[in-house]
Amino acid sequence: MIKRIGNTPIQERHKASCHCGAVVLELTLPDGVVDPRRCDCSLCRRRGAIVASVPLAGIRILQGEDVLRCYQFNTRTAKHYFCSICGIYTHHQRRSNPAQYGYNLACLEGVNPFELGEVPLLDGINHPADRLV
Ligand SMILES: [Zn+2]
Repeated sequence: MIKRIGNTPIQERHKASCHCGAVVLELTLPDGVVDPRRCDCSLCRRRGAIVASVPLAGIRILQGEDVLRCYQFNTRTAKHYFCSICGIYTHHQRRSNPAQYGYNLACLEGVNPFELGEVPLLDGINHPADRLV
């Protein structure tokens, strides 16, 4: 359970925003930052974000719902949201667990993801949902 990154305490209700500030989210993080990871799937490889998980009820869009765009590919299960003004990925509804969002750790207010230390790599090339045959 990660309750602090660098000098920034992770609050139970922590704000997150895109780069231009048009999109503002409120994340409910009673357990801090859960399951931070990188992923090497074809999208994450390009995007480069460190992602953590929250239940769907754990993200509330405070501002900018109208500028958020959704990107889907491959099985079109996951929904990847990004700001249409600055292009920053904010969150996505997960494919391996559609009851959860993943979110861009770097969007959390005051958080520098480079202060997180070592982050596990998820095997996105061999996606968990493709292995369940
Ligand atoms: Zn933006």
